[in-house]
Formats: sequence, C-alpha cells, structure tokens
Amino acid sequence: ARSGHPLMASIDRRTPFLSLGDCHFGTTINIIVGSHVWIEDSAVSWTDGRVTKITGPEAEIQTTNGKTVIEKLSKIYPKDMEAPPGGVDDMTKLSYLHEPGVLQNLSARYELNEIYTYTGNILIAVNPFQRLPHLYDIHMMEQYKGAPFGELSPHVFAVADVAYRAMINEGKSNSILVSGESGAGKTETTKMLMRYLAYMGGRAATEGRTVEQQVLESNPVLEAFGNAKTVRNNNSSRFGKFVEIQFDNKGRISGAAIRTYLLERSRVCQVSDPERNYHCFYLLCAAPPEEIEKYKLGNPRSFHYLNQSNCYELAGVSDAKEYLATRRAMEIVGISAQEQDAIFRVVAAILHLGNINFAKGQEIDSSVLKDEKSKFHLKITAELLMCDPQALEDALCKRVMITPEEVIRRPLDPVAASGSRDALAKTVYSRLFDWLVDKINSSIGQDVKSKSLIGVLDIYGFESFITNSFEQFCINFTNEKLQQHFNQHVFKMEQEEYTKEEIDWSYIEFVDNQDVLDLIEKKPGGIIALLDEACMFPKSTYETFSQKLYQTFKTHKRFVKPKLSPTDFTICHYAGEVQYQSEQFLDKNKDYVVAEHQELLSASKCPFVSGLFPPLPEETSKSSKFSSIGARFKLQLQSLMEILNSTEPHYIRCVKPNNLLKPAIFENVNVMQQLRCGGVLEAIRISCAGYPTRRTFYEFLHRFGILAPEVLEGNYDEKVACGKILEKKGLKGWQMGKTKVFLRAGQMAELDARRAEV
Ligand code: ATP
Ligand code: MG
Repeated sequence: ARSGHPLMASIDRRTPFLSLGDCHFGTTINIIVGSHVWIEDSAVSWTDGRVTKITGPEAEIQTTNGKTVIEKLSKIYPKDMEAPPGGVDDMTKLSYLHEPGVLQNLSARYELNEIYTYTGNILIAVNPFQRLPHLYDIHMMEQYKGAPFGELSPHVFAVADVAYRAMINEGKSNSILVSGESGAGKTETTKMLMRYLAYMGGRAATEGRTVEQQVLESNPVLEAFGNAKTVRNNNSSRFGKFVEIQFDNKGRISGAAIRTYLLERSRVCQVSDPERNYHCFYLLCAAPPEEIEKYKLGNPRSFHYLNQSNCYELAGVSDAKEYLATRRAMEIVGISAQEQDAIFRVVAAILHLGNINFAKGQEIDSSVLKDEKSKFHLKITAELLMCDPQALEDALCKRVMITPEEVIRRPLDPVAASGSRDALAKTVYSRLFDWLVDKINSSIGQDVKSKSLIGVLDIYGFESFITNSFEQFCINFTNEKLQQHFNQHVFKMEQEEYTKEEIDWSYIEFVDNQDVLDLIEKKPGGIIALLDEACMFPKSTYETFSQKLYQTFKTHKRFVKPKLSPTDFTICHYAGEVQYQSEQFLDKNKDYVVAEHQELLSASKCPFVSGLFPPLPEETSKSSKFSSIGARFKLQLQSLMEILNSTEPHYIRCVKPNNLLKPAIFENVNVMQQLRCGGVLEAIRISCAGYPTRRTFYEFLHRFGILAPEVLEGNYDEKVACGKILEKKGLKGWQMGKTKVFLRAGQMAELDARRAEV
C-alpha cells in the first residue's frame, strides 16, 4: 500500500529562488474583504470561500462548505471568478496559475469526461477508467492528422501528430515520454500513440504482415509475459519499455527496436494476495485441452507459484480467449509455431518446478525430494525442459565447490534447495522474457539507414511505499534522470518563447537535481558504486553497507540517516523523501546465474532451452567476474538518455484520479501529489519564475481597459496602451514583448482586484 502522502509538504519549499509568495503571488496586496479565495484543506487539498474579515496578517474566511476558517494571508490564494466553469484546455491560459487553480481546472474537466488538458506543451491525461470509444476511433485520428497543435481539444493523437510532423518537416528524431504512477494509464496511452503513428506511417494494405502491424502486435505479447495484476492496476507492466519506431524518408514505418528495463523477477515465485503472477501462466492454464494435456497442466490452484495468492481470475477478462489472442499476436510478430511450443513448454516447466519440495536428507544439512508429488513434478519439469532428471535434482539440491585440491559436491539443506529452485525459476523466466524481446526486434527488423525515429517511453513513475527496496531505488533513480531531462527541456522552451518575444529574462535561475544524481550514480563514491563494492567483498552485509553509506554521505544534503532505524537510509528525491530498507540490496544487486543451473540448461536437448543459456565466455566462467544489476541498469539508463537527448521531446503525464480504479471519482489530494511527482508543478514553477501570464495586447486591453478609460480613448497603439495601463497602476517588473504583454506571477490577480474596485 502507498504510505499516504508523506512527501506533500516537502517539495514546494525547496526552490530557493522562488518563494511560494512569488509563485502564488504577493497575495497580501490583493486580498480584501469580499475576495474569493482558495485555502488549504487537508481533506480535499484546497477549498474555496470568501474573505469576511482581515485582522493584521490573518484573514477570516467563510468557506463554501460552510466553515469559518482563520488563515494567514500569505497562505491564501485568489480564486479566478472568471475562469470558465468547464475549465480551460491549457492551464497556461489560467489567469491565476497556482495549485488550487490547476486542480480545480482538471477536476472540472474530468467531470465532463474531458480527460486531456495541456500545460503548454505537456499533455496531462487523467485516466477515465471507462472505455470512451469515440475518443480513439479512426475519425478522431483523421481529424488530428495535420491539425495545428492546440487547435483541436487536447488529445494524445495531437501529441503524436506534432511529433510525426516535426520529424517529417525537420527530419529530426522525436520522442514522447509517458509517465505516471502505476495504473495511471501509461501503457494505454503508449498504445494509442503507437496506433496513431502506425496510422500515419502505415503502408497501403498488402498481403502478409506489415512492419506497423508487427509493432502493434508486440504489445499483447509483451503484456502477456511482462504484465500482471497488482493491487494498483489489473494490468500492471512489470518492466519499463522504450519503443523506437524508425521511418524512411517518405515518412513510412520502416523498422522498430524495443528496449526493456528491469523486469520484476521476484514475482515469478512470490505473489502476494490479491495479486497475480504474470498473465501467461493463467493463460496457459486456460489453453485448449490438447495443450493442457501436452504440458501436464490443470487448475492454476494446484501450482505453488500461483496459489500463494487467492486471485486467479480478472474481472471482464477471459484467460482462454487471451491465450488464443496471444498466440495470434506471437505469430504476427514472427514467432514460429515451434518456438511458441517451446516458449509455453518453458512456462509450464516453471509451474511444475515450483511444485518440487524438499525434505531433510540423511546426511547433515542435505535435502531430498519431499514426496511422490515432488518426484512427479521433477520428472515433468525435466521432460518439459528436456534435461536429465537426475541432473535437475542435483542442480537443485547440491552445490559444487572448487578448491585448489579437489571438486566437492556440497549438499544444500531444504531451505537452501528451495531457494535454488526459485532462483532457477526466476533466471529461466527472465531469460525467456529477454528472448521474446530480442526475437520481436529481429523479426520486425531495424532500419539502419533510417535517420528519423520516434521513440515512445513507457516507464514506471516515482514510487514511495511503506517499505522501499532496491527496485524502488532503481525506479526512483530513473525518475530523477527523467526529471532532470524534463526540467532542462521546460526551461529551454521558456527561454525560446522569451527570445522570440525579445524579452530580457537573464535573472531567472534554474535549480537542478544533479546533486541527487551524483549521490546515486557518481563514480567512484556514489551509492551504486558503494553497493557494487559491498557485493564484491565477501564479508559485507547490508549492515556494513549501510554503515559505509552513513560515513560517506554524512554531510550530503540529499542523504539522511533515519533516527529510528540502524540500517535504513533516506534519499531526498525531487519528488520528496523516500526511506529505503537496505536488507535485500546486496542480494538483489548481484546478477549471476548459479553455475549448476547454467550447466544443466545449456545441456538441454531442446535447442530453444539451451539457446537461453549460451555458454559463458572462458574468463568470466572461471574468475567469477562480478556483474551487478545496478551498474548495468545505470548503463542502460545512460544510453536511453543519450537517445532522448538527441531527440525533440514531448511529455505526457498520466494521472490516476483515484485508487479504486473507478470512473468519475476525482481525489484532490491524490491528484495533487501526482502532479508534484510528475514535475507538472515544477514546470509551472519554472514558468512562474519568469512571466507566467502572457496576454496578447488585444486580450489585455479587453480585460483591463476599464482601469484606464482615458487610455482607451486616447487612440494609442495597442502596445503603448497596454504599457500606459500598467504604469498607471504602478506595477513593476512586467515586460512588453513583440505581440504580448508578459506579466509577473500575481500581477494578473492584482489587476483583477483593481478592476473590482472600479
Ligand atoms: P503500470 O505502471 O502499472 O503499468 P499504467 O500506467 O501502464 O500502469 P495502464 O495499464 O495503461 O496503466 O492503465 C490501467 C487501466 O486503466 C487500463 O487497464 C484501463 O482499464 C484503464 N485506462 C487507462 N487509460 C485509459 C483510457 N485512455 N481509456 C480507457 N481506459 C483507460
Ligand atoms: Mg503499464
């Protein structure tokens, strides 16, 4: 379960150049008795009301939900009484750009099933948790084709279209980064993007399968093997994914490459109620009878790897149908019938493997197969994997020790043997997953000549749970990287707008999260490097690892040793603090395949299985060269960032409006937290640091002409007239662009307040 929202308060106050007052206006000036305002309310995030009295630095507010509240003036934000009731489709059009305004706008739109809203170029997508069929049909795609961005309602097709056109017109690669927490709708959004790109870049229907069809059908295949039901999402992707779609010089899809990141391995042998294991296991158990017979399967309740949880079925999903659909998709992406058979044989073997149990053997600390049932499952597992049953038993129950004098077979006790069994299951499954990705890539084919590509990133959002382990560490590291990329981009875009309007904005600084990134990935000396060191040193434990962290980062601004735990450590991420439990860090970071398992399976008579375990190169097999998940992941991220940096990015922030996964429920506090973590508020903050409100001269005069009727009558040029009004009202710091007035944060509200006095 999520640990509530412990991070909420911490971030706002971080940015030194920007006090809340700046971003949320010099509210003290323009709050008067009678003003409509927003005030903080822990239950609903923000509540609105009217000021009834002002006493010194405080005001009394009568809220619309019937309460009388005293609040500091500095914590009161003006409410825009002219905001259209159905919201605005771009938040930068909000006259008062502040948290309550943003939240109110999204919520009003969500109520009308307007799930998409822009914040400048960023698309915010609030999960509708219901099918909105017309929103994505072919007519909709037709409409967005070539339509100028911002002309039609916000939509994921609009983002895909901008990316596509930018690629065609400028010959430049583009990327679309989709983020959000689990269940927010990243994968669905990604699929819509891919559908639109396939629609734009597809060929006239020809016989056989087309590249774009293969690209689209890779989704169901990867979902069958990489997605599972979790408490947060019935179809949760347990891996990150970057799909690179390549185009030829005519703008047609000519190839694709899929990269995946960090598949959750532990799920293969450990499922907690009410979650499920990977979909493919249940699909296979619902296969037609001949196949059930062939793989010796049966009720999913009879398999240990599935029956640790009481959840077997998904509401509204037929595993039997999905099985057939997955088979079809596998065929389309180019996996042969023979390969499919081998794949499902391996999946079945993993289920049988999980049913092998161990009991104490006669020798001290040794183990034997527990019962007839275990012997039966061992036999089937060996048959399915086409390996020798005795060799399989030995690989599970014994370890080979090589000493300078001799080679000894040391027995494992039942606990260690079960551990060995689970390690085997995880290794086989993750190799199978990697095989699928490689196969899809080679079958679709890469267009090495392609100069322009569109990359789509569907990757896990920031995570902060009650317990946070190595996985959360890697995930949050990813998000730090992406956040840095995002900030730099938003900052650059702002800069470009100012340059275009010839506005001087040299004083705006930019706060970076490089210090967190250094803490994590710096070489030498960062957390990942220290973890690798600990993993290589045989005497290390998680306690010594934590001690080392405490020593090294004693004075680091982003690192905290929690008071109440001797081994936890806390990182102050951009989205808030996360406390990590170091217990599993060493084990989870070690990336090695037990030599006995490697030997067993590379000797399989099934070429598919032995192909999953190619022989190791000489030196690594002998001098147990260390390889770590953390370090490898860091390299993967580095290469991802290199690609992203060479593209023009577009951002989609998915938001999960409630944790019940139900339509029409919009939980304010929850959404606010996600906007913070997704950098939406950060983007707004960067924009607030400059001139967040821009109005064309005409719009400005229309709204504020009333403040200076003499100026309107004076027959001035529009630009001059705007300046006269601003001067008359004594405002400072605003700037006049070529076509627009640029106002500092809060100035719009101030002018409105003056207008109310007229
Ligand atoms: P995870 O990180 O767990 O993979 P995710 O962000 O990828 O989560 P999705 O699987 O895309 O989340 O979405 C979760 C569910 O929400 C979907 O299965 C679907 O039921 C619903 N959903 C998401 N987006 C839409 C949409 N645009 N229209 C209708 N339903 C949607
Ligand atoms: Mg997903």
